[in-house]
Amino acid sequence: MDIKNNLKTIKQHIQDHVKLVCVSKFHSNDAIQEAYQTGERIFGESKVQELCGKYESLPKDISWHFIGHLQTNKIKYIVPFVSLIHGVDSYKLLTEINKYAEKQNRKINCLLQVHIAQEETKFGFSATELQETLASGEWRKLHHIQLCGLMGMATYTENKDQVRCEFRSLKSLFDKVKQDYFGDESQFCEISMGMSDDYRIAIEEGSTLVRVGSSIFGNR
Ligand SMILES: *Cc1c(COP(=O)(O)O)cnc(C)c1O
Repeated sequence: MDIKNNLKTIKQHIQDHVKLVCVSKFHSNDAIQEAYQTGERIFGESKVQELCGKYESLPKDISWHFIGHLQTNKIKYIVPFVSLIHGVDSYKLLTEINKYAEKQNRKINCLLQVHIAQEETKFGFSATELQETLASGEWRKLHHIQLCGLMGMATYTENKDQVRCEFRSLKSLFDKVKQDYFGDESQFCEISMGMSDDYRIAIEEGSTLVRVGSSIFGNR
């Protein structure tokens, strides 16, 4: 795999306001170093143990994003260093992250995951659950959480119109909740959507953070 060249190609399709999360799960430290040497600093992992190992052995100026499904009993391992947790899919999880963040005296950046796909298996709030959760205002008491935006995964399908439609629904939900609950809070600005197969569509539909793995590092 020519990681340098892959990155160069991908960067040509990414505008300046969009950040690239290099999804390095299951790939070696050497592969990450290669991307690091071309200037990449944001890496995404989906398993806590793997993330912690890589954090220990790789340069400390890497910004580590957790993009997987986070189990409550593992929060404590990543809270000391993680830069952004993409997939917060319940209010309970948010309160648990807050609890450990308080112990570490950190404020943790989080995205709320919204279920936009038609598949049963993907995690996340429904649009209604998200609005109810935000409307309750309880989350404002979680002083060690910074809500930075929303995250979603499209259905795994060849149907690009469907994918586009799902991304569009996430963007419009983002616009609505931003207006209703975050007024002039500028930190609520991220829409994490788009992976190797669909990041270009996602960017057209308003993504600010694309999570790209296999197009950079090859198949896992
Ligand atoms: C693995 C993964 C990605 C990257 O997928 P690719 O198709 O390899 O680009 C993006 N987001 C999440 C949540 C993932 O688990």
